[in-house]
Amino acid sequence: MTRVLIIADMEGVIGIERKEACDPRLPEYEAGAQLLAAEINVVAAAARQAGAMSVSVIDWHAGGGNLKQEMLNVGVEIVPEDFSPGYDVVLLTGFHAMAGTTDAFISHTMSQRVTLEMNGEQAGELALLSRWAGDEGVPVAIATGDRAATVESKRFLPGTPTLTVKDTLSWERAQALPPKQAYEQIHRAVVRAVSDRDGWRIYQSRTPVHFRIKLNPESATATKIPWLSRDADGWLVGQVDSTKDVIDLIDVLTALA
Ligand SMILES: [Zn+2]
Repeated sequence: MTRVLIIADMEGVIGIERKEACDPRLPEYEAGAQLLAAEINVVAAAARQAGAMSVSVIDWHAGGGNLKQEMLNVGVEIVPEDFSPGYDVVLLTGFHAMAGTTDAFISHTMSQRVTLEMNGEQAGELALLSRWAGDEGVPVAIATGDRAATVESKRFLPGTPTLTVKDTLSWERAQALPPKQAYEQIHRAVVRAVSDRDGWRIYQSRTPVHFRIKLNPESATATKIPWLSRDADGWLVGQVDSTKDVIDLIDVLTALA
């Protein structure tokens, strides 16, 4: 009886080709949010077809609030950023590449102000979320998004299948597969990924997690956090026990902006 958790971002959602569609302050966003919900409904239906008993979704983009329960099909539940309810497998959908990736649609790491390194390697949201899930003992079955995101996934989630739904034209523009074709592809890919338990992979943090975070612009307040130091290049440096702590720290640092 599989309990599926979708962690849904927006930049890599089927049909979204313009940065403006991901910005809640802009008129194009409404259509973007509908595309986000439509994709989750397709993914959830596929998960059900593959035997999922329940389908929950973390609305990850921009801290959540993009989805309303009535936009989702019956039985698809919006849940908080928390693994405590207990999930068997995670699906990472709608993702983008990390900050600094060239030839990528809206590449960033949680915030457009942040560049992140973990254990000496530049990392982004796919690394953060897969390790957070892994530290909770939950495997990942699939990652979807733009081409740069799926290339990044191959590096950080090497055993996990991916689906590319768009190519990059520029940082602000993408060329997406036609939705009908892309929905058929994602449906097939998710049915296969959720059915294939042998293909689920757990990705745990290498602990302690040594991190370096570059904030642009820098924050004088952030440098006052006692257990963070600032290196010669202006990066905030420290170590924590889990990748979730890095996620929480980035949330705090960006809130200081
Ligand atoms: Zn996002």
